[in-house]
Amino acid sequence: MSEAIAVINAGSSSVKFSVFALRDGDLVLDVGGQIDGLSSTPRFVAKDASGRTVAERSWSEGANLDHDGAVEHLQGFLDQQLAGDRLVGVGHRVVHGGLEFSEPVRVDRRVLSTLQALIPLAPLHQPHNLSPIAALLERAPAVPQVACFDTAFHRTNPDLAQRFALPEELHEAGVRRYGFHGLSCEYVAKALPRFDAKAAQGKTVVLHLGNGSSLCAMDAGRSVASTLGFTALDGLPMGTRCGALDPGVILYLLGERKLDARAIERLVYHESGLLGVSGVSSDMRALLASADPHAKLAIDLFVYRIRRELGSLAAALGGLDALVFTAGIGENAAAIRERVCLDAAWLGIELDAAANRSRGPRISAPGSRASAWVIPTNEELMIGRHTLRLLSRTGDRP
Ligand code: ADP
Repeated sequence: MSEAIAVINAGSSSVKFSVFALRDGDLVLDVGGQIDGLSSTPRFVAKDASGRTVAERSWSEGANLDHDGAVEHLQGFLDQQLAGDRLVGVGHRVVHGGLEFSEPVRVDRRVLSTLQALIPLAPLHQPHNLSPIAALLERAPAVPQVACFDTAFHRTNPDLAQRFALPEELHEAGVRRYGFHGLSCEYVAKALPRFDAKAAQGKTVVLHLGNGSSLCAMDAGRSVASTLGFTALDGLPMGTRCGALDPGVILYLLGERKLDARAIERLVYHESGLLGVSGVSSDMRALLASADPHAKLAIDLFVYRIRRELGSLAAALGGLDALVFTAGIGENAAAIRERVCLDAAWLGIELDAAANRSRGPRISAPGSRASAWVIPTNEELMIGRHTLRLLSRTGDRP
């Protein structure tokens, strides 16, 4: 009988999962997949480590498969898949750990209610992250569950980097910059020494460019600043999120355009960013393939904002030894990487265009003063490792 760790990453319209087998003290992917299209046309697919589909199912449109239904289906699949194996624990991605959680935590009912109290800080993510935890606490209370936070990696940010220039009372109440994509950045921080030992000890900016995008400044592998702040809205324009916005715009929308809070939430989370500017798509592939001038404008704005935020983070670090591109756009869009690197020439980046086209991993020229890399992220593996480590340390590993 072998031991396994399951990882669940539940988002607003999909539940992704991975199952890792424990081998020689580390985790090896056994099977992974997702149920996506929740609330429209749900589809389940599971693939083994070689990418071969091992199970799939579709639901008809309007099947109304909600998150609970998705978790129930997944649990059935995992019970079958794990027959004869021992499930050591389940790790979950949870977007917000607030001030209290600066590292992964074993979830019981008390922890769950503390995390539920953070829902107003991440209304579009936190409820979905927590619903499978609540469902499993109900259905399989003996299985240890561990919450791993997107905010935790950034709790090392200095006090100044966490502050808004708002009255102290609000800061004390938790209105501060938290930063997100921490699991992805932490994975990169752990992987970087294998690629560039000097940068791993030095000043690095991680460019996590996906549907959600952010930059993280790391000094010797520790986060010192992030472009994301109190919520997952700040910083760069994203697929459908606006990124940094003068708060006066919100006042204008409230006062002059008479939008209420819900309408503004919809606008800034779902109708802005690459989608809002282009009017074409939130998907970078579609924008790169489009001849529409607004698609080009959306890409130009994305690249321009990266250029400015990169300067800001390099200033926070007081220099730059390396850039690391990761996530869907960062790993796959050579044209975006090329533009970002050319813009960063003043920071000592000299692009190797051929290496960039073939995805590196090193995409800076040999003599480049600062290096640039493509390092695929693996948030699920990071969650799996945290889960294993925590349960081993606390003796909760059954
Ligand atoms: P999420 O934040 O949902 O995890 P991903 O990290 O998967 O998102 O990133 C999704 C983004 O990556 C989309 O904008 C998609 O278009 C982009 N992307 C994926 N593959 C490519 C590619 N080959 N070229 C350009 N963009 C890509």
